[in-house]
Amino acid sequence: MTDKAVRWVMRGKSEPLVAVDFEPFPPPPGEVVIKVAGCGVCHTDLGYFYDGIRTKHALPLCLGHEISGHVIAAGRGGESWIGKAVIVPAVIPCGQCDTCRRGKATICPNQKMPGNDIHGGFATHIVVPAIGLCPIDESKLKAAGISLADVSVVADAVTTPYQAVLQSGVRQGDVVVVNGVGGVGGYCAQIAKAFGGTVIAVDVSLEKLSALAGETAALTLNARELQPRDLKSTIQAFTKERGLRQTEWIIFECSGTKAGQETAFSLLNHGATLCVVGFTMDKIEVRLSNLMAFHARALGNWGCPPDLYPAALDLVLQGHVKVTPFVEQHPLDDINYVFDAVHRGEIKRRAILVPSI
Ligand SMILES: [Zn+2]
Ligand SMILES: [Zn+2]
Repeated sequence: MTDKAVRWVMRGKSEPLVAVDFEPFPPPPGEVVIKVAGCGVCHTDLGYFYDGIRTKHALPLCLGHEISGHVIAAGRGGESWIGKAVIVPAVIPCGQCDTCRRGKATICPNQKMPGNDIHGGFATHIVVPAIGLCPIDESKLKAAGISLADVSVVADAVTTPYQAVLQSGVRQGDVVVVNGVGGVGGYCAQIAKAFGGTVIAVDVSLEKLSALAGETAALTLNARELQPRDLKSTIQAFTKERGLRQTEWIIFECSGTKAGQETAFSLLNHGATLCVVGFTMDKIEVRLSNLMAFHARALGNWGCPPDLYPAALDLVLQGHVKVTPFVEQHPLDDINYVFDAVHRGEIKRRAILVPSI
């Protein structure tokens, strides 16, 4: 345990992140030290860094909540995890409280989110509660040709839409519209397809649309070229031609933008389900009564309960959800460049910061 531990901390809005040494050993009872294999850069991290969205933990704080790695030390009670490859849930519930006991782990009032409530994964090591860790069968990972660092995106970019798809009840024959098919939406489209939905992908980026065309999305639509009303009529014409439903569309808003939310709301039809997966601080003006008039519903979800992680990971290991084409690894030491490049839209795939390269 002579590893030197370093984490990159945020000191203030848009101030360069700095590397700081820290001592992760020994972990407290019930917690483990994980040697980080990779940590994905999420839209939420950029929100804290560039938009001044407040973290719950005071600054300085190490961001990053999409983490995979190996458990290398454990406090009392966590010994069975030592040596295992794991994914750290983006939202770690306490497992003890009333909401947890009633199976509502994502709204646990004592939850810990790395990079928000506690120091996160843009680091060589992280100390987290052992509860909720998702074990990874490394032989299956190897057989699937996926690196441990790449599977870090399961912690949020895959599991958050997995939870959204599950709670929306997508099944065979459903018409699914995914608005915004970037970091999270691309996985949402693949998961909805795996659940039997016919997926229509909407985005303003041709590159993102073409990555899903054919195999995942039955139809791709460029929102830049179509007014919301035309978008709806185009989807209506397509679904009619295919003999698909004109009611009960399941719409996932994954862009986390004002325009995207307006578009998603405009697609409501009778019995529709609107799932708000993306986040923005912006407000939109809608006629909320449309929910009533259409007998529609709107759902949100904060992360995903840890007990659903193994099933989400299985979709990746079985090849139903591909991660490798949608991610790219960068050295952790380049974090300031990577944040800037993601923010400017220069890096289009999910960036994963890797300590050892
Ligand atoms: Zn995230
Ligand atoms: Zn709890």
